[in-house]
Formats: sequence, C-alpha cells, structure tokens
Amino acid sequence: MQQYELLWQYQQVDMELDQYEREMRNNSNRKELLKHRDFLLEQQNVLKKIETDVEIMSDRMEALADEITRLNGSVAEATANFEANRPQDLEEAKKQIASIQKLIATISRYEAELAKMRKDSEARDRQQREVRVRAAKARAEFDRIKVIYDEEYKAASGKLEELKAKVAAEAKGIDPALLEKYKAIKRHAAMPITRLHDDRCGGCNMQLSAADKDKVRSGLPYVECENCGRIILVK
Ligand SMILES: [Zn+2]
Repeated sequence: MQQYELLWQYQQVDMELDQYEREMRNNSNRKELLKHRDFLLEQQNVLKKIETDVEIMSDRMEALADEITRLNGSVAEATANFEANRPQDLEEAKKQIASIQKLIATISRYEAELAKMRKDSEARDRQQREVRVRAAKARAEFDRIKVIYDEEYKAASGKLEELKAKVAAEAKGIDPALLEKYKAIKRHAAMPITRLHDDRCGGCNMQLSAADKDKVRSGLPYVECENCGRIILVK
C-alpha cells in the first residue's frame, strides 16, 4: 500500500486516541478533583497569610505592652519626684504636671491601640478556624471523589493503552521521516493529512495553486497545501 494511504489509516486511529484522551481529561470527576485541589491550595495560602499577619501583630502587641510598662514606670518616677521635691513655683508645677499628663495620654493611646489589635487578633483566630473547617470539608470531598475517579481512571487507562498499541501498530511500515513530518504538521494543524475536494485542501479549504494542480494532473499521489502545510491526498 502507498505510504500516504498508510499514513491516512494511521491518522484515523491517532485521532481516535486523541479523542479518547480528550474525553479522559474532560471526565467530570477529574474536573471536580482539580477544582477541590485548587480550592485547597487557595485555603493553604489564606492560612499562610493569616499566620504571617498574626506573627506581625503579636510582635507589635509585645512591643506596645513593653512600651506601656516603660511609660508607666516613667509616670511613677515623675510623680514620686513631684511629691518628693515640690516645685518652687506655680509655673514649674504646671510644667511637671503637663509632662506627666502627656505621658498618661500616650499610655492611653497605646492601650487603645493594643485593645484594637487584640480584637483583630481574635478575629484572625476565628477566620483561621473557619478556613480550617472549610478546608477539611473540601479535603473529605476530594478524598471521596478520588476513590471513584481512581477506579474510572484505571478502567479508562486500559482502553487508552489499547488505543496506543493500535496507533503503534499502524505506525509500522510507515517511513519514520514521513511520520515525523505528520507530527510536525499536527503541532499547528489538526488532521495533518487530508484529501483533495474540488481542487481544494480538505483541511483549510484553500484552492490549489496552478503549479499544484499541474502536479496533480501529472499523477502525483499527493501535494502539500501552501496555506496550511497539510498533506493533501489526491485519491
Ligand atoms: Zn490547507
């Protein structure tokens, strides 16, 4: 049989294999699994982000608490000093009181900030728990579907191997260089080998050039489409 006719037959089983692989990829349980997997990865990222936030917040809270302790010490010191060494005049007394009040105001501000951060931190804890619950549910669903899909995949793999063997068998007897050419065309055009229809390429429907028409008339069994690169069988 002509090499190109063999290649035509090869393409039939090759397309069947491609179609089956597409069906396997489109398996609804496989898609569900991928969806759950993506969701789980997303939840892991959310958890990581929360953990980083919590770390930064607890560092800041620790620093604030230290600063409040230090400022309280300063207030106690300034107050003791005020008591022990009574100011000479009203101006001096006002100055010292103002300085103590300023310290107290700063402490209040820091305490308010600290309280707000504690609240935020608690909110993050709640969020973390919610994410963990959601992720656990997704994980359970993933595991449930995985069992079903694994069975389906095992069954489908059997047929896939059969088809691959069929394709390999069809490849026998075809010139390896021609097969390589087929594969190269397939990278940019589905169904690399086609037939001539009314002087047109069966793949892209482009009319043959005058030169190619001459080749066909001279009895050449095939021409290559100038537009899409497909091999066009004449008969
Ligand atoms: Zn074409």
